[in-house]
Amino acid sequence: MPLRIENYGDVERIRMWSAGSRAAGLDVSAYVVRGIMIDSGFPHARRALLAAARGLRVFGVAVTHWHEDHAGNVASLASLGLPVFLRSDTEAMLRERPAIAFYRHVIWGRPPGLDAPLTAFEPSSLRGIHTPGHSPDHQVIWDDETGTLFSGDLWLGVHSRAVHASEDPYAIVESLRRVRALEPARMFDAHRGLVPNAAAALDAKIDWLTDTLAQIEERIAVGWSDREIVRRVLGGEERSGILSGGDYARRNLVRAVRSRVLTAGA
Ligand SMILES: [Zn+2]
Repeated sequence: MPLRIENYGDVERIRMWSAGSRAAGLDVSAYVVRGIMIDSGFPHARRALLAAARGLRVFGVAVTHWHEDHAGNVASLASLGLPVFLRSDTEAMLRERPAIAFYRHVIWGRPPGLDAPLTAFEPSSLRGIHTPGHSPDHQVIWDDETGTLFSGDLWLGVHSRAVHASEDPYAIVESLRRVRALEPARMFDAHRGLVPNAAAALDAKIDWLTDTLAQIEERIAVGWSDREIVRRVLGGEERSGILSGGDYARRNLVRAVRSRVLTAGA
């Protein structure tokens, strides 16, 4: 079963797996609220996702960021005539079709390039808020009507120590603060689903990440190596760090801090 639909009143969660994601303990969700689909799943789930979009009478798509588990079926949905709400930098990435690491091909699949023009639309009462950090183009989708935050890959749990090599954890803290100020009543995370007590969950993540970045800075200042910091501050590398060949790893969090410290000292 590649896909399961769960109902949360006004919101449908479309939860998707592939054989590879299941083996890695991963899944990702798209959501549908008032006929608008937020994110589009990954290429390996294409047929099931398109069937779900028809079944749920989706009439427009909003995209949080270019990664293949979120924007993986934008081209297919657009070819059905659906309008797409996304940032221009997200669209540029989908047209450019950047190379992705091998494990991402296996788990999610690599999307086809976006060739056709998109029909733009402004989803009424849904708003995109730029929240860079996880990726430069990342936006959350904010539902003014119900105080609901569709947080994409902004939150991902309080203690998410592994990051992509390209992530900026300092920008993530700023983005978390920006959405926390909205006082969300509900939050739907793209991987964790409905997060109870959204405001407290955002606070906990802001506190943990701020504190962890400060701890890493202190250890760098006294000459610890990346390896020592991963082991003694972050509890060692996790399985994804090894399976992804270092593309999604705790050491990347340390490297991001070190490059920030070096830039600041230059
Ligand atoms: Zn992502």
